[in-house]
Amino acid sequence: MNEFDFIVVGGGSGGLAAARRAAQYGKRVALLEPRKLGGTCVNLGCVPKKVMFHAASLSQSFEDAPAYGLKVEPPRVSWQTLKQNRDAYVSRLNQLYEQNLRKDNVQLFQARGRLLGPHTVDADGKHLTAEHILLATGGYPTVPSIPGAQLGITSDGFFQLEQAPKRVAIVGAGYIGVELAGILQALGSRVSLLSRHDGVLQRFDPLLATELRQQMVERGVDFQPNSEPARLARADDGSLRITTSDSRELSGFSAVIWAAGRSPATSALGLPQAGVALNARGQITIDEFQNTTQRGIYAVGDVTPQPALTPVAIAAGRRLADRLFGGKPESKLGLDLVPTVVFSHPPIGTVGLTEPEALERYGEDAVKVFSTRYTNLYYGVTGRRPASCMKLVTVGTEQRVVGCHVIGMGADEMLQGFAVAIRAGA
Ligand code: FAD
Ligand code: NDP
Repeated sequence: MNEFDFIVVGGGSGGLAAARRAAQYGKRVALLEPRKLGGTCVNLGCVPKKVMFHAASLSQSFEDAPAYGLKVEPPRVSWQTLKQNRDAYVSRLNQLYEQNLRKDNVQLFQARGRLLGPHTVDADGKHLTAEHILLATGGYPTVPSIPGAQLGITSDGFFQLEQAPKRVAIVGAGYIGVELAGILQALGSRVSLLSRHDGVLQRFDPLLATELRQQMVERGVDFQPNSEPARLARADDGSLRITTSDSRELSGFSAVIWAAGRSPATSALGLPQAGVALNARGQITIDEFQNTTQRGIYAVGDVTPQPALTPVAIAAGRRLADRLFGGKPESKLGLDLVPTVVFSHPPIGTVGLTEPEALERYGEDAVKVFSTRYTNLYYGVTGRRPASCMKLVTVGTEQRVVGCHVIGMGADEMLQGFAVAIRAGA
């Protein structure tokens, strides 16, 4: 007989959610995690990023304080204090996750997992068996393979920085690129943001991308469009110099941060031997029920082609446990309307189809778009007046909302309500 009902490889967002849910159904669950519990989100992603985002937003509020009659000194950032407090918070969360596993009777192995077959996992030399095995190993930052790339750091390295870089180049203008650019700029760094396109957030609605780019430039970010690094080198004065693929030189950086996407963590998992297939992008192939190509082995989260977002990994993990152990054979994750927030300055909230996507899917005659642009009352008395913008994309005569896109103060919170209404068929 198998020792466990469920072995979960990876203690991040998806793995923890699935393991705990299965254990709550009374199953014997093993969870393998060689590093700190919580995975990317807790240790190197959402959580420390949100702390930095709040520090940056707070620092910007001080600019507005005099207009509100508050006499304050311009803030000076102690990066050390910020990092210390942030790291302490993350440590508390690590402990909390451990307590929760203990409470739910999940057996934790501080070990790296490798499949030895459809029902057996090697946990650093110990062989564990179960009827069901979940792969939830997440991903890691992609570093472009160009000469000198190792001189740069990634988002992982950003969270290790002991002080703010004076002048920083961020390569890649997706989620991480624009979020770190906003944070570093607000906390006093001089930021260059390099995009290999002519704008930022390529896959978002054009309204959001255009507005964010403009507001970032107004805040002082040096935006470098159509700039793909071909080489990174250290100059005689110790600073870093980027040569772009069209032979331009951008120099004088104290740090270069690669924010050029993430790769799935699948190496050394023993996938081929266990009969688990990968797609062309190296992600684990799954069907809509999280089944891999091997019966009894499943995958959730960033290691799969599903959107690389924490709530998606958590929901996929819980639905899977409900299906396998909770008597809900049809339980699966719906991916139709996944809301997402970008913690840029200003923040962005978006759900559903962009205007170009809706036009492509439904045709010009069926799509009607409603847009609005306004200044938040907060800025009524301040010197700066950044705009907020919103777009609703609708289809058909009944004007069913298929997309909602918001940028500006509060967009991150505002989106939640819209997402619920749209899911309800507004
Ligand atoms: P992970 O959380 O990465 O967990 C995988 C775990 O598996 C890791 O702990 C790893 O150590 C472990 N592991 C790997 N190999 C093995 C092995 N062989 N054996 C055992 N364990 C193994 N998402 C949002 O929704 N909102 C945000 O604001 C947000 N901000 C982000 C900011 C940054 C800088 C980054 C990098 C990501 C952010 N994300 C955000 C994405 C989010 O962190 C991921 O989508 C989420 O963590 C994925 O969860 P996961 O369980 O698939 O993988
Ligand atoms: P993204 O895919 O969002 O963005 C990567 C950017 O880097 C793209 O603009 C890409 O361009 C560009 N790029 C890729 N390769 C190169 C290269 N060699 N040179 C220059 N630019 C390059 O990935 P991120 O790394 O920003 O984030 C990874 C994922 O993590 C996100 O997709 C998201 O799912 C998740 N995340 C979520 C957050 C949130 O919810 N708030 C925050 C942070 C991360 P191109 O489009 O041409 O490929």
